[in-house]
Amino acid sequence: MKISKTSRRTFLISSVAAASALAVSRTPFAAEPAKLTESDPMAQNLGYKADASTVDKAKFPRYAAGQDCGNCSFYQGKATDAYAGCPMFGGKQVASKGWCNAYNKKA
Ligand code: SF4
Repeated sequence: MKISKTSRRTFLISSVAAASALAVSRTPFAAEPAKLTESDPMAQNLGYKADASTVDKAKFPRYAAGQDCGNCSFYQGKATDAYAGCPMFGGKQVASKGWCNAYNKKA
């Protein structure tokens, strides 16, 4: 049987497409960014606490009751998400109930 140029090309294209699909399906899901810990040097610099009520108010007088990551403009999740990324910490996950000195009230 003689294979035409067109069907050979079609076969090659579909083989490449199938191989690509396989490669994509084998790609492992990217690991979720790590949670920021209070002991992280950057977290300490900015006074990050996973529970805003434990912020050292003497050291970080900018803190006011009611402020937390969930209502900060930098919080990358919904206010109802327990954790979400924060660009201040390279996208690491911060607690919605947390706070740091870079807090900026969401408009
Ligand atoms: S910048 Fe905002 S969202 Fe990020 S840790 Fe500080 S208070 Fe939380």
